[in-house]
Amino acid sequence: MQSTQLSESLNTAIKNHLKLDHDLVQFFRHINHVVDEKRHNELTAEYEMRQKFLMVELRQIPMLVHASETHSPTIFIAFQNEYGESTAMAILRQQDAEMFVEFAVMRYDRGPERTVIFNRNDLSVCCSCKKYENKRILCRYVLKVFDTKGIKTISPEYVKRQ
Ligand SMILES: [Zn+2]
Repeated sequence: MQSTQLSESLNTAIKNHLKLDHDLVQFFRHINHVVDEKRHNELTAEYEMRQKFLMVELRQIPMLVHASETHSPTIFIAFQNEYGESTAMAILRQQDAEMFVEFAVMRYDRGPERTVIFNRNDLSVCCSCKKYENKRILCRYVLKVFDTKGIKTISPEYVKRQ
């Protein structure tokens, strides 16, 4: 083999090798892209499933439907969280007086214990956690009391458009 021929064949080999490397890079890029896309699709499906689940849950709970219609999205999210927590609440004690009912409310598995005073006449409430006074959001303890008393929508005085 002459030196020119050797050089040419080397060149070809190097070019092929480089081409192969180039193809490999492309191949891995493609694989990454496919993996990213698959992951993205999975996340999207998961998100949509959760959204659908939330929508189904929402439609079935009058208090949440009412809150979604009367609260700003930010307040609604906070309300929804309190509502979710309220389902884990338990009434420990209940004391009936003339116009007021006093409830001791606590999460089923751990404290703190809160006192909710319920007014039978105007259906107003006062809770020792003071969340409503501070943040204008009905708290989990009050929502538990409302549920216990069969109140399924938010009374007008607690509906605050933000
Ligand atoms: Zn409270």
